Parts: sequence; C-alpha cells; structure tokens
Amino acid sequence: MGDNAITDTDINEIYEIKEVLGKGAFSQVKKCVHRESGAEFAVKVIDLRRVPPNEKAKIKREARICLMVNHPNIVKLHEVYEAPHTYFMVFELVSGGELFEDIVRRTFYSERDASHLMLQILSAMQHLHRLEIVHRDLKPENLLLESQRDGADIKLTDFGLAVMLEKQQNEWFGFAGTPGYLSPEVVKRVPYGKPVDMWAIGIILYILLAGYPPFWDDDTKVLYEQIKLGEYEYPSPDWDDVSSEARDLIDRLLVQDPAKRLTVDQALAHPWIAQSDRVAPHVH
Ligand code: ADP
Ligand code: MG
Repeated sequence: MGDNAITDTDINEIYEIKEVLGKGAFSQVKKCVHRESGAEFAVKVIDLRRVPPNEKAKIKREARICLMVNHPNIVKLHEVYEAPHTYFMVFELVSGGELFEDIVRRTFYSERDASHLMLQILSAMQHLHRLEIVHRDLKPENLLLESQRDGADIKLTDFGLAVMLEKQQNEWFGFAGTPGYLSPEVVKRVPYGKPVDMWAIGIILYILLAGYPPFWDDDTKVLYEQIKLGEYEYPSPDWDDVSSEARDLIDRLLVQDPAKRLTVDQALAHPWIAQSDRVAPHVH
C-alpha cells in the first residue's frame, strides 16, 4: 500500500468495497476498507465502458496529476488498480461531506469561517499553480470537509479536468468546467491558464458569504452572457453587514481581464486573508 504503483492485482483481494459516498459523470466514489490494516479509504471507481474513447486518456491524466501533488489541503491518492473495464483510484477518506452540502445546511458562513476556508483553498491552489497545474473545476462539490464540526479543515479533490501548463503558457485546453464557475476567457473561448482557477475562487467566496452565486440563470446561454458582461451585485440586506475588505477581495478576483485578476500569491497577501483576525468579523 502507498507505493503509488499501478497494479492489475484484483482490488477486492486488498480492499473490501463498501457504500457509495458520491457520484460523478463516469464514476462512483465508494468507501473501502484495507483488509490487512482495517484502515478506511475512498475509492473512485470508473466504468471504462461508459467513458467515451476520446476521454480514456484523461482518466490516466487525472491519476498522473494526483500523484504529483502533496499538500495537506489536497486529497491524497494512495494507489491505482486497473481491471479490464474498470479503473480504481484509492484516495484518503475525507468524511465530513462536501462543502456544498455544508453551505446549504448553514445558508452562509461567518466571515471568520469563510476566511479560514479561503486560506486553505488558496494554499492548495498555490501548491498546484507552482507545479503549473490548473484545476479547472473548483467548486464547493469538489471541496471536502474533514469533519462536520465548525472550523473543520478542507481538502480539494477531483482532478478530472486538471491540466498541466507547458512553459507557463496560456493555451486553449477546451471548453470545460461547471457553468456557474466558468471564467469569461473560457466562455469567450480564448487561450487561458491559472487565472481561471482564481475566477472560480472568487465565485466560491461570493457563495460562501451569500449562500447564492453572483451569476446565475437556468439558461446557460444567458448565464454566459452575464459572465461575459461581468456585472454582479451585492444585494441588500444580505450584503449589508459584509466587510468592505471581503467585497474588495471578491472584486479583485471577479475581474474580466485575466491578466489583471489577483494571482494566488496576491490573494494570499490580501488583508482579508492575511490579517483575518483583525479584518474578518465574526458577525456576518
Ligand atoms: P467526479 O470527477 O466524477 O466529479 P469526484 O472525484 O468529484 O468525481 O467525486 C465525486 C464525489 O464523491 C465528490 O463530490 C464527493 O462527494 C465524493 N468523494 C470524492 N472523493 C472523496 C474522498 N476522498 N472521500 C470522501 N468522499 C469523496
Ligand atoms: Mg466532482
């Protein structure tokens, strides 16, 4: 265990596979127990017969990228198993559920809690961006909580859309992501890079503080027009008590021009993050 090798040993000999924890497009994530040690993990089970032929290479790309990263706020990939029609990725188990469910449960976060979460998300992002990895699918469904208690740590997961930048160059990596989190440059179908993740972080921060997204329409065409216009509001009374520093950070992330958007290092230095004890109030 833990040697990261891809093996064709039958996974069922090594792990007992248990209940479903979550689902994605081609995958199911299930709890599993390492038979020898009794330790629990989460295994992402990908049914290769359901993956379109042109997507198959991407499954291995996900594993390859996961094996490159090593950070306390990123879910660790332990090992990979291959069977004729199935690909298994054994991850560390993160048992507090999705940040998404927690937002729904709480409606919105206090600035203190949101700032604590943001620090961890940005720290994970800094690790990825230093490795020239762009995640491309940052959203509360892909951020898992360590536990359900207040102030729980968070772990980033789902590298299904992650890509590596070559020579730090922007590139057109295709139209990919989740509609409400897509950056203007992706919507405009122009070459892009790390700033797409910073845009998504801006959307997540807005949602954490409000409980709803800055851009939304059931019709994705209309939604994409909103994103391209880049006009969003802070409706009263929801935002009345939110600090100007929090809004300032959102405004510097939801910037149309990716070159003018905060980088991850700049966001980490922003007062709402770096001096959160002084700046981010308990109240909202
Ligand atoms: P997809 O690429 O299909 O979206 P994800 O990797 O996002 O798959 O996993 C789908 C869901 O499974 C997640 O949103 C989460 O609810 C659950 N999940 C994924 N990884 C873990 C894990 N390590 N521990 C616990 N639950 C997980
Ligand atoms: Mg996912």
